[in-house]
Amino acid sequence: MKYHVTTFGCQMNEHDSERMRGMLEALGYAEAPSRGEADLILFNTCSIRESADSRLIAHLGEAKRLKREDPERIVGVGGCWAQSLKDEVFERFPFVDVAFGPGQVNRLADFLLSDSIGAQGYFEFESFTGDLPAKRGREFQGWLQISVGCNCRCSYCIVPSTRGREVSRALDVLVEQARSMAADGVRELTLLGQNVNSYGRDLRPVRGSFAELLAAIDAIEGIERIRYTSPHPKDMREDVVRAHVELRTVCEHIHLPLQSGSSRILRAMRRTYDRERYLDRVALIREHVPDVALTTDVIVGFPGESEDDFEQTLEVVEQVGYDGAFTFIFSPRRGTEAASLSEGLVAHEVKVERLERLVEVVQRRAHERAQRFVGRTMEVLVEGVSRTDPMRMRGRTRHNKVVNFSGLALPGELALVDISAATSQTLVGEERIATRLLVEA
Ligand code: SF4
Repeated sequence: MKYHVTTFGCQMNEHDSERMRGMLEALGYAEAPSRGEADLILFNTCSIRESADSRLIAHLGEAKRLKREDPERIVGVGGCWAQSLKDEVFERFPFVDVAFGPGQVNRLADFLLSDSIGAQGYFEFESFTGDLPAKRGREFQGWLQISVGCNCRCSYCIVPSTRGREVSRALDVLVEQARSMAADGVRELTLLGQNVNSYGRDLRPVRGSFAELLAAIDAIEGIERIRYTSPHPKDMREDVVRAHVELRTVCEHIHLPLQSGSSRILRAMRRTYDRERYLDRVALIREHVPDVALTTDVIVGFPGESEDDFEQTLEVVEQVGYDGAFTFIFSPRRGTEAASLSEGLVAHEVKVERLERLVEVVQRRAHERAQRFVGRTMEVLVEGVSRTDPMRMRGRTRHNKVVNFSGLALPGELALVDISAATSQTLVGEERIATRLLVEA
């Protein structure tokens, strides 16, 4: 039996899809190169923004056609969109056979092994997909899910309702899993959670901490790099920041979502920090890790956002000087507090205009920041052939900057690359062949 998985959304969904593949292959399924060649057609969905919903529905149209051609085919929908609609999935898309939330990936196996004839939905927050076998996209890079859910209540966010309350996985389970991933060839490990730096607070009888987890994984032989996403500024404590200096493998990159530079809008978003507290965290990070790469998330057009509020966002972005940013236009999500706001709604064309002005500042500052790498030799984890030039290889520095370079290094290797140029997005360079030949000798 062949399966095909289409993944939408965040890294947590990428991780869940790796687990879905691992679980299905443990059941004897094989991956099909296209939906048309699959007996089991799966979608791992996202519901963060309206655009995600409309894109999915377009893909579901093809699944409907394929199911009509061969009624034996099974169509399954997992992830946040499925969780947000629950049984409504079957009312709106009667050709769907199974639907399951992010905490129920394992139940897909139950459905496939059962001789159920009717459509089945599984929407309880039960288990960690991280406990399932994984089929990784790259042998040398792996995701490690450290917790599920989120206890925050950001007024625009659907995640707490689709992924439940924060539950941390036990420290010894994570260390054991990281050790076996290292033994399996993983060199770069990304720790995943909706709010990674509040890891361990719910663990009993002994509370854990994120800094403790970082130190435990840093000690594992074979792990060369640790990354993590996504932290929350309110929980960015000094022990986590210092880990970037004191622990060899913790990379010099921190993603610190801002969302808005206006304390008034941050309050309306229920982000639990204000502009001063955010900038204080940035100052703490730069004090301990001066060369750190800082990236962020920013939403424009939140209900009530005035021109002055937006100007304050531009000021913070200018002042911080991010190495990169994900920028979004606010879109109301069903079931969130912000979706019921009716005062001060920002017109779409104003949102678009503000997004353009924000992107201009982000890219200009990112370009300026990237120049600090020109003339330096950077350690690059090679990921494959460059997407823009087949004669070059592609990889990432510890700062999470993409590098396109000429050299002999192969995917999975750590290469030393002399950086000759930088744009806001990528660096260009040449591998130090001499060093490589010395190392190989
Ligand atoms: S911290 Fe806020 S934005 Fe992030 S997942 Fe939790 S509720 Fe959503």
